[in-house]
Amino acid sequence: MFVRVHALTVVLLWLFFRFVIMGKCVFNGKGKANEKFKAWIAADPTSKSKAMCVVCNRAIDISSMGEVALQSHMISKKHKKLMELKLSSPSVTHFLSSSSENLR
Ligand SMILES: [Zn+2]
Repeated sequence: MFVRVHALTVVLLWLFFRFVIMGKCVFNGKGKANEKFKAWIAADPTSKSKAMCVVCNRAIDISSMGEVALQSHMISKKHKKLMELKLSSPSVTHFLSSSSENLR
């Protein structure tokens, strides 16, 4: 009985440390950011708890939400629109001329 309780304590301690250590989200820039984020993510030079979106030129606080914060930024309308612009046209002038062509 005692052995069982002891084993449970070890497991609980292990889980506790795992969540404390793993749960602490710090973007180090070198870490392998998720494939879907790497097109627009960069390390924020001013804060380790933030990541930068190079497309929107915006800092994203990842200290509490971690990947979820990146995820929600990625699906935001503003980001999507800017990503589309970035991917579809190398410059704004090109975008404007191609959209006027579409009007014809
Ligand atoms: Zn963005």
